[in-house]
Amino acid sequence: MSLEFARHPHPSPASAERRREILADPGFGNHFTDHMVSIDWTRDTGDSPAAPHSGGRWHDARIEPYGPLNLSPAAAVFHYAQEIFEGLKAYRHDDGSVWTFRPQANAARLNRSARRLALPELPEELFLESLTRLVSADEAWVPDGDGQSLYLRPFMIATEEFLGVRPAREVGYKVIASPAGNYFGGKLKPVSIWVSRELARAGHGGTGAAKFGGNYAASLAAQLEASAHGCDQVLFLDPTRENAVEELGGMNVFFVLADGSLVTPALTGTILEGVTRSSVIQLGRDRGLEVVERTVTLDEWREGVANGQITEVFACGTAAVITPIGTLVDGEDSFASPDTDPATSVALDIRRELLALQTGHGDDRHGWLYRLA
Ligand SMILES: *Cc1c(COP(=O)(O)O)cnc(C)c1O
Repeated sequence: MSLEFARHPHPSPASAERRREILADPGFGNHFTDHMVSIDWTRDTGDSPAAPHSGGRWHDARIEPYGPLNLSPAAAVFHYAQEIFEGLKAYRHDDGSVWTFRPQANAARLNRSARRLALPELPEELFLESLTRLVSADEAWVPDGDGQSLYLRPFMIATEEFLGVRPAREVGYKVIASPAGNYFGGKLKPVSIWVSRELARAGHGGTGAAKFGGNYAASLAAQLEASAHGCDQVLFLDPTRENAVEELGGMNVFFVLADGSLVTPALTGTILEGVTRSSVIQLGRDRGLEVVERTVTLDEWREGVANGQITEVFACGTAAVITPIGTLVDGEDSFASPDTDPATSVALDIRRELLALQTGHGDDRHGWLYRLA
């Protein structure tokens, strides 16, 4: 499916000087480029509760100045949280070209999330074109510093003005972009983790496998608990499965075992399937490691660290790529992950490989790179 994109250039984009100032130290999620993409969807046939996303069409694709949205206070998204999003990064390669990583996987996931939240699916070609359009318009915003990228945030919201509870008949898809430095401020200090015993982010049959804003809203109280206990991040468990390890609020978890294998919690419907997670699984297999997706309980983690069966624990996601997990705090209990020599760390080596690939310094044998500009 293809749509004409109307172009409405920003009348007063940021000056080159202002942009340089921002790109020198962008942080994460603080600054936004001059433009955004918007595409609207309207249901154009009668109600069809059995197929809430059919019988509608995407229209009015445009690239327009980044700025506040004009939405009714009764727009469904504000009341019933019918919203999904994606996150991916564009990197500038040495020759000046700009590339992203496995965007087809994000397109597929956006549509899985859309089905769960009764939002319309967006054709993959339109998703890819939305990224290309925005990055072409705001190419000067793609930084070229070490570990820097342009973070792309596609999202979809229910814009219909209606307080009844049903899938909205008017929906907006947008893409905004934000220059990003290193997620955790550059230093690869292991993150400390608070084990959330009382609060879950997702339940069976719920929305945990969708990239849905409500999952994040549900994780914030646990994140506050973590901060109150001096921890950086929260670990969520599945109390219905012997406290199986699920994930952090926005990152998947991996274990390196003493026999050299990699283990990550299996997808049960309450865990988000990260593109980074899938890539780590593949890169692990490429180097001949056994990679196993299975249940890992908190007890196995505690005992494995104590008896040497687990040699490293790390978290992964687009924003932070791969970050080692240090101390785990579980109520009064606290135990450290093994102290791995950075020179022999499997986590750091896979991190280097993944970053090299994304920045155009690796062997793209799986065809994961996608050129945006
Ligand atoms: C986005 C996300 C991840 C990581 O996914 P990537 O595609 O690797 O960025 C992990 N967990 C949750 C809950 C997420 O929303």
